[in-house]
Amino acid sequence: MSTLDELPVVVIGAGPVGLAAAAHLHERGLPFLVLEAGDTAGAAVRQWGHVRVFSPWRYNVDPAARRLLDDAGWVAPAEDALPTGAELVADYLQPLAELPQLKPHLRYGARVEAISRLGLDRLRTAGREQTPLLIRLADGDELLARAVIDASGTWGTPNVLGASGLPARGETDAAAFLEHALPDVLGADRHRFAGRHTLVVGAGHSAANTLLSLAELAAAEPGTEVTWAIRSASPARTYGGGDADALPARGALGSRLRDHVDAGRIRLLTGFSVHALTPADGRVAVVVRHADGGEESIVVDRIVAATGFRPDHSIAAELRLDLDPIMGATRALAPLIDPNEHSCGTVPPHGADELAHPEVGYYAVGMKSYGRAPTFLMATGYEQVRSVVAALAGDWDAARDVQLDLPGTGVCNSNPADSTGADSCCGPAPAAQPAAQGLATGISGGLLSAPLSLISLDTPTSGQTGGCCSS
Ligand SMILES: Cc1cc2nc3c(=O)[nH]c(=O)nc-3n(C[C@H](O)[C@H](O)[C@H](O)COP(=O)(O)OP(=O)(O)OC[C@H]3O[C@@H](n4cnc5c(N)ncnc54)[C@H](O)[C@@H]3O)c2cc1C
Repeated sequence: MSTLDELPVVVIGAGPVGLAAAAHLHERGLPFLVLEAGDTAGAAVRQWGHVRVFSPWRYNVDPAARRLLDDAGWVAPAEDALPTGAELVADYLQPLAELPQLKPHLRYGARVEAISRLGLDRLRTAGREQTPLLIRLADGDELLARAVIDASGTWGTPNVLGASGLPARGETDAAAFLEHALPDVLGADRHRFAGRHTLVVGAGHSAANTLLSLAELAAAEPGTEVTWAIRSASPARTYGGGDADALPARGALGSRLRDHVDAGRIRLLTGFSVHALTPADGRVAVVVRHADGGEESIVVDRIVAATGFRPDHSIAAELRLDLDPIMGATRALAPLIDPNEHSCGTVPPHGADELAHPEVGYYAVGMKSYGRAPTFLMATGYEQVRSVVAALAGDWDAARDVQLDLPGTGVCNSNPADSTGADSCCGPAPAAQPAAQGLATGISGGLLSAPLSLISLDTPTSGQTGGCCSS
């Protein structure tokens, strides 16, 4: 055994996938250390603890973790029940993190700031693979590792509101009006939304969850108004597979949202590309720019940015990464999950081979491994770490024997032209999209396949503010 092999495998993040990696490392007898920035296991999941997930327990528990928990007399939740994020932590992640096989190897309050090779910058090649990885923490502490499994997720780096992927004009100055995705509208954050007008921007499950909570709040609190803005011309893909969805909770979410929009309890604005935010008189004007250069605005009290997340690769900037230029995932994985191409987010099983970078020993797994693709499921991450840990143990047969048991697809041929209830003045209707089928993860796939109206660079036409998008 070399000196390198005696060093621990460092896992970044004690979320569902990081802890699953720890369970597999324990089973393989490899020394390991989990570094978690938060105070507890599942620190990111706790922040959306009020949200009920759409995949039942049977897909949410890693098999190696399950073996350890069963040995300790764990009472498993009902396989078909749907936990909230808080239940996922209390009934699974926390008991897992407390097991004597894992607990001594978990370090909380340990935020990883950077990863490199000991004594080698990114340029140096000689001896690189035999040199330990160096992990620097935010408190200045430094550790050495034989490999790094980066399961740090994407929760800390939400996408911006601006339509071009850059912050909208004034977005930073308007921070006081902005909410991170999934505020606890009916709980701790209720006072910020009751009796006020909220604009939810986004077309994924986070947006759908928040909209349903706001509609419930509006029924109880007079003066509460809810507007939903999406960039495409139809909400059909957010509505999803309805009764035909293999994840019934996901289908039901979309159906309930559709009912609220159809009944006018949620006002839907389509073709909505955020151009600028302008605070005024305690409220904020959200300016939309159209293809003809015209601008419109809507004035609201709060904005919920449910625009998805992006990975933060900056901690690995000194490593040799080979990232797909579009997705920010590895090049081998990106085409398998690209939402521009996959109407249904078809995800073949994948593992160490697809997740490898030129930097030997560094693997990003879990939510982070998908880059900007919004379609990750825990079950996919569990198979990733099983494979990666097998590879680190030198068991390449097991590492390459990848299998994935995901829930089957819902109906993925939602017709984008079916935009009932929308204020469709904000862009032309798109051509219908072809039907497609496959394994669906996240919302009903093909998120980015609906065409968007392009925005003109022309000077805005005067006198066009306050049209159908104004409030
Ligand atoms: C609202 C919501 C609902 C979802 N529902 C489902 C569902 O029904 N089914 C499903 O399969 N998936 C679902 N997902 C997707 C995904 O499975 C979860 O987000 C899951 O938590 C991802 O696990 P992870 O371990 O990759 O990342 P996370 O759970 O985000 O964990 C990452 C951990 O790393 C820590 N961390 C971050 N940066 C650092 C750092 N620099 N140093 C040290 N620690 C760090 C964080 O504090 C966090 O604890 C959902 C996601 C969301 C947001």
